[in-house]
Amino acid sequence: MGKYKLKLSFVIVSMIIIVVLATSGVSIWSSYRNFNDILTQNKNMMQENYVRELSAMSENYIQERLNDPNQAQSIELNMEQLVGKIHDENTISFSTFFKSMIVPLLILFVIILIVAIWIALKIVRPLQKLSTSVERAEGVQELEVINDWYDEVRSLKEVVENVVILSESKISDLTNQLNLDSLTGIPNRRRMDQILNELIFNRVPHAIVLIDLDDFKSINDTYGHTMGDEVLKSFANHMQNNIGKQGMCFRYGGEEFMVILPSATVDIAIEIAENLRIKQALLDTACGRPVTLSAGITAFTTNIMNPNQLISIADQALYKAKQSGRNCTCVVDELSEKIIK
Ligand code: GH3
Ligand code: MG
Ligand code: MG
Repeated sequence: MGKYKLKLSFVIVSMIIIVVLATSGVSIWSSYRNFNDILTQNKNMMQENYVRELSAMSENYIQERLNDPNQAQSIELNMEQLVGKIHDENTISFSTFFKSMIVPLLILFVIILIVAIWIALKIVRPLQKLSTSVERAEGVQELEVINDWYDEVRSLKEVVENVVILSESKISDLTNQLNLDSLTGIPNRRRMDQILNELIFNRVPHAIVLIDLDDFKSINDTYGHTMGDEVLKSFANHMQNNIGKQGMCFRYGGEEFMVILPSATVDIAIEIAENLRIKQALLDTACGRPVTLSAGITAFTTNIMNPNQLISIADQALYKAKQSGRNCTCVVDELSEKIIK
């Protein structure tokens, strides 16, 4: 089975043409019938007149012939004129019929056809624009400019606008969810990679702090996995409150977290990380026992070309902090390596 695409404009114009043709045909036919009746009546009347005039003329002729034989020519002339008059009236009447009926109807037909095409396009254009807009997944701004001059297209436009708004908000919700960690609610590693990529690509100076909670396995082992989850959530919350607008916090994975500090130097990063570490060590936790952290710090340098390079230096620093007895901070940069307790 082939596919048939029925164009609305084509249907409207065709229907109007059919209606106009049918109406014109019927009116021409009935006018012609009326006109014929009038002509026949007219002809009958004229024939009667003709007979009357002819009789009168014959009588005059006979009378005048008796008086003057030269009058014979004038009666022939009169008879010719009379017959010519009847003939002329018949001919003129038909051409008048065409001039007065067919030509105006043709003009009317052309005008109606032009108006029909104009109306069809006016009806169809907003629908075409709506479908193109939906096809191209355009936003609400593009939909707003569509001329919704009749009720059906107005309600269709409203429905499409609502669907677009709903899908835009769903897409934005999904994008947010895609970038958030489901347990702690803070941005996840995916988002962290995006931001680090942007900073490194644009060569923006920044420092990073890689955090790992100390002996976390023993918290799970002692208090259970659910309690471990609670500790992770309250740490994420504490970290975000502590860092505030100075940087961005992410869950890197497991019991590891990352803080990105745009425009920060290593010294500023140490200050921020130490403040967090000391406060965390003193904090009451859900499990009732202090949960400390170790941190590895480093900063962006011009030889860093991708996030992995930077993260691996921070990881190296974190490893050194763990080796140095945990609950401490280690900084590794181009020039030095130091432990802060
Ligand atoms: P270290 O001080 O050397 O970091 O010791 P650690 O015990 O913290 O490190 P380890 O890598 O041995 O253990 C990490 C633990 O974190 C093991 C794992 O079960 C736990 N963990 C990772 N993700 C989650 C999580 O989402 N919820 C819970 N409850 N535990 C998690
Ligand atoms: Mg770990
Ligand atoms: Mg750990």
